[in-house]
Amino acid sequence: MRIQILTVLKNTDKEILTSVKNVLANQKLNIAIVPHENPDGDAIGSAIGLAEVLTDYGHTVNIVSPNSYPEFLKWFSSDVNIIHFNKNKKAGKETIQNADVLVCVDFNEIGRSEKIEKTIEKFTKTKILIDHHPNPTNFCDYMISEPSYSSTAELIYDVVHQIGLEENITHNAAEALYTGVLTDTGSFSHNTSRPNTFKVVSELMKFGIDTEKIQSSVYHNFSAERMKLLGYCLNEKMEVYPEFRTAVISISRQELKRFKFEPGDTEGFVNYPLSINNIVFSAIFIEKEDFVKASFRSKGDFPANKFAREHFSGGGHLNAAGGESKLSMQDTLKKFTQLLPEFKHQLIETII
Ligand code: 5GP
Ligand code: MN
Repeated sequence: MRIQILTVLKNTDKEILTSVKNVLANQKLNIAIVPHENPDGDAIGSAIGLAEVLTDYGHTVNIVSPNSYPEFLKWFSSDVNIIHFNKNKKAGKETIQNADVLVCVDFNEIGRSEKIEKTIEKFTKTKILIDHHPNPTNFCDYMISEPSYSSTAELIYDVVHQIGLEENITHNAAEALYTGVLTDTGSFSHNTSRPNTFKVVSELMKFGIDTEKIQSSVYHNFSAERMKLLGYCLNEKMEVYPEFRTAVISISRQELKRFKFEPGDTEGFVNYPLSINNIVFSAIFIEKEDFVKASFRSKGDFPANKFAREHFSGGGHLNAAGGESKLSMQDTLKKFTQLLPEFKHQLIETII
C-alpha cells in the first residue's frame, strides 16, 4: 500500500496561513526574526533558514537574538545580519522597532526571549509565531504552533511551501533548516516517528547541502576543554539513583571556569545519563550568576515538561524540558532528590 504523506499543519487554519501569506509573500518589507535565549541548533537554524528565504524574496531581514549562540554553530554559509541583544541593546531595539513584521521562532512563551520581552510586547505591528513546543501562550497576531513537528526548522520548511515561497529556498536556507532538524532530533534519533520529518530532510538534501560536513561541524567541533568538562561531569559529578531510574549531574560556576566554559559547552550533557541501562529520567543543573539552570530529559511517557513546569518554573517537550531554580545549588539538588519518591511509581512504570 502506498502511504500518502500529507503536510499536516494540524493546528493552523487556512485563514492564518492566508494572512501570513499576505504579510510575507506580498510587498517587500523590513522583517525582524527573534529566536529564544541561548539559541540551540533549531532556534538559530530556523531563524537563519527563514531569514535566507525572506531575503531571497526581497525583504530586508535581520535576526535579533537575545544572546550569542554557541561557537560550534558558527559555520553557517549564510551572511544574514545577527544582532546580539545582550551586547547591542540599542541596535537590537531599533531593529525591532523599525521592522514592519516580527517573527518569533522556536519559542512560545514571551519570557523565553528574555531581555527582548519588553520590546516584543511594545511592538504594535504584525507579530507572527512559528514554533513546535506544546502549550503555547498567545502573544502573537498569527500563531503557527505545531507540536507534532520534530523541530521548528521542519515546520518552517512546510510553512514556506504553504505561503508559496518555496522558490526562495536557497542552498544556505536548506543548510540552516537541515541543521535545525538534525540537532532537535539528536541526529535523527528522537522525534522522528513521522514520515514528514524525513520527507522534509530529503527535500532539503536536493539543494546540494553537505550533510557530512554539517554533522561534523555540529558534533565534531568542540574545544578540548569542553570534552574534558564532559568527562569530569560523567566521572565525578553524575549521581545515579537506580531505584528511581534517574541520574543527575550538577556543575558549579567554579567548575565551569576551571574548564574555560564557553556558551554551548554543556549542550547535550543531559542526554548522556539516558544511555545508562534502565535510566529513564536525567537532569542537569548548571549554576549561573543568579540562578540555577535546569535541563531535563526523559524516555517513554515520563513527562519531563510537566516536572519542569510544576517544580522548576519551566516547560518544554514531553521528553526534553528545562527550567530554573532560585535556590542554591545544594538546595536545588536537595529539592530534586526529595521530589523523586513522589514520582517513583511513574518512573518505575515507564515503558522503554
Ligand atoms: P534545554 O534543556 O535544551 O535547554 O531545553 C529543552 C527544551 O526545554 C527546549 O525545547 C526548551 O525550549 C525547553 N526549555 C528549556 N528551558 C526552559 C525554560 O526555562 N522554560 C520553558 N518554558 N521551557 C524551557
Ligand atoms: Mn526546537
